[in-house]
Amino acid sequence: MLQSSLFTKTLREAPKDEQARNAQFLVRGGYVDKLMAGVYSFLPLGLRVLSNIERIIREEMNAIGGQEVRMPALHPIENYKTTGREDIDVLFHLETNTGQNMVLGQSHEEVVVPLVKKYVESYRDLPVSVYQIQTKFRNELRPKSGIFRGREFLMKDLYSFHADEKDFEVYYEKAKEAYTKVFERVGLGKSTLMTFASGGTFSKYSHEYQTITDAGEDDIYICKACNIAVNKEVMGDLEGTCPKCKEKLPTEATRAIEVGNIFPLKSKYSDAFQLTYKDKEGKPRPVIMGCYGIGLSRLMGAVAEVQSDDKGIMWPDEVAPFRVHIIPLSEKSNGEAQKLYDELVEKGLEVLLDDREDLSAGQKFGDADLIGIPWRVVISDKTLADDKIEVKHRTEKDANLITQKEFLKLVLY
Ligand code: ATP
Ligand code: MG
Repeated sequence: MLQSSLFTKTLREAPKDEQARNAQFLVRGGYVDKLMAGVYSFLPLGLRVLSNIERIIREEMNAIGGQEVRMPALHPIENYKTTGREDIDVLFHLETNTGQNMVLGQSHEEVVVPLVKKYVESYRDLPVSVYQIQTKFRNELRPKSGIFRGREFLMKDLYSFHADEKDFEVYYEKAKEAYTKVFERVGLGKSTLMTFASGGTFSKYSHEYQTITDAGEDDIYICKACNIAVNKEVMGDLEGTCPKCKEKLPTEATRAIEVGNIFPLKSKYSDAFQLTYKDKEGKPRPVIMGCYGIGLSRLMGAVAEVQSDDKGIMWPDEVAPFRVHIIPLSEKSNGEAQKLYDELVEKGLEVLLDDREDLSAGQKFGDADLIGIPWRVVISDKTLADDKIEVKHRTEKDANLITQKEFLKLVLY
């Protein structure tokens, strides 16, 4: 893509109403735009990142047998009366001019359970797992952390349905592995910990995936030996010990943001909607469920928060809006830049070419650091004289003069 054709521009100043570093960079870089508290547009660069995250999650959910669907965002209030959730704080209520009451989906148990009930009759129809990547609406009380806490946000929610606890538990472990892969692929492998959290009254624990960052909203207690953590809610219950190695946990909390969670639901929602199946003897039994969420927009914020320095974002390869940012610095280098651009694009790479006129090298470099594309390639009269290009990785301090051929080897692994 030609940078001159982007309708967004970078902003020099951080917006005053954004506190979190990720939100400041994302707004300044032209990734997102705030419409009102907790409600954002995803702009061309931002949508590229979000789509990359979406692709990774989709691949990993498909790999554990998830079947993708898209359920409505508009829900009948009656289903919430069935589950007793019609009065929860975050629910947005709507009323039509003919007096019909509806709500905007804040989660989809009320839709997916009646849906699956239409198709599950006997043990032969189980297990089933369905998921979607869709907008959720929650009237969050303090939507202050940029895209970390939206009132409208993108979530992947998967629901699994099983004949018994044992089958559920096997699937739950598979989901854990899939989650670990997702967080590794988006570049948060090292900073994201599986965290024991409360499972409500239905199960002893649920598991959150918490990314360590001061911009987070949760407190976790980390067992360094096991590389897992415990949420504040269950510290007391566990008497301050690690559920795995039973050693004492540190008393100091670490700030983190919940990027995903997996939750045993037992038969809570199956019971509400009388979702049962007939076992081998023909006896009706309740379906055992689990739910598995990841906040995609929050995850994008978490990557931008963790993978950044004081100049801007440092996107990991798999989520970056482009892999290579080419910056020609003279009239003479424009032609060479275009040639390299064509070659890289032909090889299947996503490339941004800074063809903007009347900008100083400093301004172009500043924008490149802010936007945070992994590879920066500078072409100037000086590099042309050497028959080389100047290559710098966003996470490294120094640039190297290398040939185009050498660069191709670096990016086409
Ligand atoms: P939190 O405790 O942060 O409010 P939650 O327990 O309400 O999260 P879930 O309902 O389980 O979260 O949603 C699944 C995932 O969706 C969360 O792990 C998080 O990544 C994301 N998420 C939840 N609420 C929001 C929000 N308001 N904005 C953006 N992402 C969110
Ligand atoms: Mg919440």
